[in-house]
Amino acid sequence: MRLILLGPPGAGKGTQSARLEQKYGIPQLSTGDMLRAAVKAGTPVGLQAKAVMDAGGLVSDDIVVGIIAARIEEADCAKGFILDGFPRTVAQAKSLDAMLKSKHKELDAVIELVVDDQILLSRIEGRARETVAAGGTVRADDNPDAFKKRLEQYHQLTAPVSDYYRSVGELRTVDGMAAIDAVTAEIDSVLGK
Ligand code: AMP
Repeated sequence: MRLILLGPPGAGKGTQSARLEQKYGIPQLSTGDMLRAAVKAGTPVGLQAKAVMDAGGLVSDDIVVGIIAARIEEADCAKGFILDGFPRTVAQAKSLDAMLKSKHKELDAVIELVVDDQILLSRIEGRARETVAAGGTVRADDNPDAFKKRLEQYHQLTAPVSDYYRSVGELRTVDGMAAIDAVTAEIDSVLGK
């Protein structure tokens, strides 16, 4: 099964992807996680991406498309995958279409988690507080200024991705403000499981 989870930062894509990964035995491919790993490892991609990520901007389409193109070729993606945080621009969505078409593969579902901005802001503040309480390090882009920028980028560049999939009849929306288990149940029902 090949799935895309769309939605703003803090919508719960990571939480729901992890559950889908367990349930269907397909990997969660988070471009954010892959980029953070590249930054940590100090690879050329990481060095290029760090400043833009810290400021809450978007890494170039070429970089993330290249990362995903290579990743979906790996053996664990043979049965499918869950894309989390990709595509984030219409150009990325079109590149993904071309990539899948060239492999004679199709998407099974595109699911958008819908959450109001105000709720996202309080969730992200909560996530930072919980991380600090647990002795962890808060993500550099989870501070209020960078988060505001990430939300702006979402409305400007990523919301059109939902319109793109809606226009081709592939988009399904789920209320991401419901309790975590209720969101999971709604995703299952969208997937017909
Ligand atoms: P995330 O963990 O999905 O919130 O992503 C964290 C950051 O990584 C984003 O704010 C962007 O700077 C970068 N990023 C992740 N995925 C993409 C993508 N598909 N396109 C461009 N930048 C991305």
